[in-house]
Amino acid sequence: MQNLRPAGSQKVEYMPQTTTNNPVIIWFRQDLRLADNPALHHALALGRPVICLYIRDEISPGIRPLGAAQKWWLHHSLTSLAADLSTLGGQLILLSGPASEVIMQLAEQTGAQTICWNRRYGEAEQAVDRQVKSDFPGTAKSYQAMLLHEPSQVRTGSDRPYKVYTPFWKKLSAGPPPRAPFPRPERIDCWSGDELAGDRLDDWQLLPKDPDWAQEIAATWRPGEAGAAVQVSQFTQKNIENYGSARDFPGPDMTARLSPHLRFGEVSPYKLWQASFPLGGATAAAARAGQSEAALQSRETWRKQLVWREFSYHLLQEWPHLDKENFSAKFDQFPWLEPGASLTAWQKGQTGYPIVDAGMRQLYQTGWMHNRVRMIVGSFLVKHLLIDWRAGEQWFWDTLVDGDPAINSSQWQWVAGCGADAAPYFRVFNPILQAQKFDPDGTYIYRFVPELAQLEAKYLAAPWQAPAEILDRAGVQLGTTYPNPIVDHQQARNRALDALHSLQAPNLEG
Ligand code: FAD
Repeated sequence: MQNLRPAGSQKVEYMPQTTTNNPVIIWFRQDLRLADNPALHHALALGRPVICLYIRDEISPGIRPLGAAQKWWLHHSLTSLAADLSTLGGQLILLSGPASEVIMQLAEQTGAQTICWNRRYGEAEQAVDRQVKSDFPGTAKSYQAMLLHEPSQVRTGSDRPYKVYTPFWKKLSAGPPPRAPFPRPERIDCWSGDELAGDRLDDWQLLPKDPDWAQEIAATWRPGEAGAAVQVSQFTQKNIENYGSARDFPGPDMTARLSPHLRFGEVSPYKLWQASFPLGGATAAAARAGQSEAALQSRETWRKQLVWREFSYHLLQEWPHLDKENFSAKFDQFPWLEPGASLTAWQKGQTGYPIVDAGMRQLYQTGWMHNRVRMIVGSFLVKHLLIDWRAGEQWFWDTLVDGDPAINSSQWQWVAGCGADAAPYFRVFNPILQAQKFDPDGTYIYRFVPELAQLEAKYLAAPWQAPAEILDRAGVQLGTTYPNPIVDHQQARNRALDALHSLQAPNLEG
């Protein structure tokens, strides 16, 4: 393709010729799906041929490069989208570079006069979208697809953003229900002009090589819309009614495991909202027909998780630097320690606390971690090791397949106690009690810490408390086959509380 606008040059001005064949560009971003995709739906409704486009625009200023595990996911998600499009007659064109330049070149080459996309909510991403809107000579239309509500439009009675989840949830649940999902298109009339010189996906080098550390991730997940649909039906048919009571137990793994599919937009939150209460409007009377109160509450609890996701984006919209700046500025004075060997031990799952190590290994091996364990390992890093939450956020960003710009940073701040509606500062998760309570038979720890496979479950939460002969019989030599705890829980807890008190912030008391 001709390079019309090298970086830094003047903007290209041109007016496209109107013909019956002017295509419409559909710009896929975090919405790698065909079902309930408003940009796709509206573009096809124009009755013109379409160009399906994905741009790798990480070089745009401020756009955070994807983490390694997300790159792996993106590769497979794009492969899946391209295959799905082609079964309907469409074709996915891959291009790289600053989005506005890429789009202007494409529009000039093809005569496209309309471009449609679904909105994103990061500050840099929104700046890119504004640039495209201002440069594009035709019509640029954007739609709400990623979230159930426009984050900037949810306001308190005094027209302020929400900082606390419960009133946010109440406000949304008192409002009109989310729209019904748009149908999946049955065919796509693809633009048939000049052949477009797109990139080859393999050339983007999104997959790891030498070593290929993603083998277990690949065995665990099926990226793409079809994989997401399987996950939705399994969860909504089998587990959703027990979600409320089972969601905190990482062993049986009863949660939806939809987060990476949501992250890449392979499933729409509108579909999930609908699927979570299949009885239409879910009026209390209709919903109660044939369902226990506990089952209904469980469905409601799951919907609340979807609204936590909305809340995270609401925070990101209002506080766009959530991944870098403490939401509560008081924490700017916090006496973090230099991350050294203890950060490495945490990353590698070698802290000597089996529940922490199991979580960190699940993350590294499968690209995902159960929510309860994310809270435990997060608290351990920040409070037991006094390491800045940003180091944890960055590690999660790099290793999670669901690494999400809004959720990851807001949840890390929540765990650290400096975020909106955060965990109380004095709450230091006890990794021993957490393991005993939420992994009582050791299912989870045995799965990810095989060195302890022969140790009786009752000693799994704190192996150093087991009698020497029990450890011997289980083949566990602390400090050799499995680490001694890198910090003492009680001392670490006291140190964390002292550090928090040192902020001398009156409203931290309580
Ligand atoms: P389910 O429990 O089945 O919930 C359904 C969906 O609701 C999730 O897929 C997710 O989209 C949303 N959701 C659930 N919990 C939360 C929450 N606490 N906040 C916001 N949305 C939520 N989730 C991510 O998607 N990406 C991240 O980068 C991420 N980082 C996290 C970091 C920390 C320190 C913590 C404590 C949590 C983080 N979470 C993150 C939230 C949560 O752990 C995951 O969303 C959840 O474990 C995903 O599994 P699931 O799909 O089975 O969730």
